[in-house]
Amino acid sequence: MLAVKQGPPDEFAWIESLRPLTRGDARALDLRDDAAILPSRPGFDLVISTDATVEGVHFLAAEKPDIIARRMLRTSLSDLAAKAAEPFGYFLLTAWPPGRDQAWRDGFKRGLALDGEAFGVALLGGDTVSMPGPFTVSATVLGWTPQGRAVRRSGARAGDLIVVCGAIGDGVLGLRAARGEIADPHGVLANRYRLPEPLFSLRQALRDRAHAAADVSDGLLADAGHIADASGLGLSIDLDRLPLSTEGRAWLGAQPDSAAASLALATGGDDYALACAVAPADAPAFIAAVRARGVLAAIVGTFDAQSGVRATHAGAPIAVEQPGWRHS
Ligand SMILES: [Mg+2]
Repeated sequence: MLAVKQGPPDEFAWIESLRPLTRGDARALDLRDDAAILPSRPGFDLVISTDATVEGVHFLAAEKPDIIARRMLRTSLSDLAAKAAEPFGYFLLTAWPPGRDQAWRDGFKRGLALDGEAFGVALLGGDTVSMPGPFTVSATVLGWTPQGRAVRRSGARAGDLIVVCGAIGDGVLGLRAARGEIADPHGVLANRYRLPEPLFSLRQALRDRAHAAADVSDGLLADAGHIADASGLGLSIDLDRLPLSTEGRAWLGAQPDSAAASLALATGGDDYALACAVAPADAPAFIAAVRARGVLAAIVGTFDAQSGVRATHAGAPIAVEQPGWRHS
């Protein structure tokens, strides 16, 4: 499992130092075996997702190491939140370029410890390697759902409403704020980009009423489009109905072209909101349950039997040229 390949001698010390991240979980075998051993859990399905993040591509090259660790874990866990799963563990791959000193590694580890505790996930194994660069980290996250109860992308039905839980646009605005491209006096938007919140609080609401769900990493139009595609449907979204944070609303209000600006929010990505398919009759109760958890919720459109992703603004269709949407 945490075997050393081509690494400098201190890789053994690195693995040793990761042991507290197992949080005493016996399944990790103290990171001393070739593998982790997970007893099966009758009546439950194991839900697994892997993400890789690369410095300079998925996070800013100058980002602090604890934030890199936490953001990586949170964006990976968001996929489990979209399945209405309860997370319990993760496997970690780190690929180190030369020149990361002990303080940097300690910061990275501190971030993992902090969010490992916050989300109740234990390090169960992984691997660590050295390479020319850039720094790359991958997490494979694991969670349980009661058998047959994981929410899939493929369950949407024609006529289902598209309900978005969480704010749309804060991801792309936060990235721009973190780069200093837009005003963010209190760092609120940049923080939302750096530390997105996986919406595990919506687990029961999803299990009760969502036919399908996906987390919004690529952009609302793309990710709702993934649900439509997996379900053999198309969709239409009204860009006037996006759930926006106070900061997102303020930004949008200051833009000269509100159609283009709304489209930018709906295609920007990194929101880690959830796009859900909900039957019209279930929508009021679903939205009430989401809002009761302090999470924004809005009906933004409909899944239907027409093909493609369609968007309107101020009642008029607008052209969607969506990078990542491959089924135009
Ligand atoms: Mg996802």
